[in-house]
Amino acid sequence: MKQYSRPNPDVESLAKGVLSGDRISLAQAITLVESNLESDQRPAASLLEKVLPKSGNALRIGITGVPGVGKSTFIETLGKYLVNEGKRLAVLTIDPTSPVTKGSILGDKTRMEELSKHPFAFIRPSSSGTSIGGVAYKTREAIFLCEAAGYDVIIVETIGVGQSEISVSNMVDFFLLLMLAGAGDELQGMKKGIMEISDALVITKADGTNVKNAIEAQSVYQQALHLFPLPDSGWHPIVLVTSSITGEGIKEIWDMILRHHDHVKSSGYLIKNRSRQNVAWFHDRFMQLLNKDLRQFKEIEIAQKKLEAEVSNSTISSDAAAKQLLDKYHEVLRRKNS
Ligand code: GDP
Repeated sequence: MKQYSRPNPDVESLAKGVLSGDRISLAQAITLVESNLESDQRPAASLLEKVLPKSGNALRIGITGVPGVGKSTFIETLGKYLVNEGKRLAVLTIDPTSPVTKGSILGDKTRMEELSKHPFAFIRPSSSGTSIGGVAYKTREAIFLCEAAGYDVIIVETIGVGQSEISVSNMVDFFLLLMLAGAGDELQGMKKGIMEISDALVITKADGTNVKNAIEAQSVYQQALHLFPLPDSGWHPIVLVTSSITGEGIKEIWDMILRHHDHVKSSGYLIKNRSRQNVAWFHDRFMQLLNKDLRQFKEIEIAQKKLEAEVSNSTISSDAAAKQLLDKYHEVLRRKNS
């Protein structure tokens, strides 16, 4: 029986397609870098190598907020405003909890339906099934691919669950937290950690009878933000209100993002921050690879299980066990290389 084998992706023509702004090539390129297949790792790395010099020119925005706060409606309204202004917009969504169609071109079709039809917009959900760190790592590579394909603005959307926000804030220039007004004590559900890394807070659904609540929440959050120390960017986080239904506040939010961009560009923080992010991702990626390398040795797995049992019944200290495991790893490597 003839065995099916996946054809090797033609990296050269894929890179050309991406650089010429071809959406199908871009979608295929993202699928390739998201792939966990061992045989795809080399072509993916080579593709990135080819397009990386053309990346870096977009404004990268991270958007987060709890499910239901109105993220996709907001991105659709803001997105439509941007594409009408002639901007090319890519939206990458990270949702570790929902299964998504891997490799689809328009992906998240039911959300942001109108935006996804616009020729200047490219919407792509991240693949699920890997760790948040893994998903986020690939999202970062997808940002580079979208930039190389000529997108001016990249929005990375993530749901409000801890770790993914931190990862995303480490790959964008501007981080926006969407919040709801009127949910009891304004400060109660406040995610202090996430507020601290946000460049702006936007109170959503400021329409109808909710306008008053939204404006009240705006002032409460603005006061709360004053209590935080000034971030390294030198930018005072701002609180705005919007309605994605009426479009109220959308232009103001975009103008604020542009003001922030001018501010960090002229102060030199933009370049400094991106360099810092690159170094942080290098460290992260190295730890990931080291971990993967470690996992390939059966002996290490056995030694780890044994040490775990010993640590758990206190026959060895955690510190000593960790050192023993490291020694074991070195021993396995020495043997492998001799
Ligand atoms: P997500 O889960 O954060 O992406 O939230 P969605 O964008 O799916 O919105 C959740 C619900 O809120 C939907 O029923 C939307 O129609 C509604 N919604 C979103 N934005 C607004 C808004 O600006 N005003 C009002 N009144 N409803 C909104």
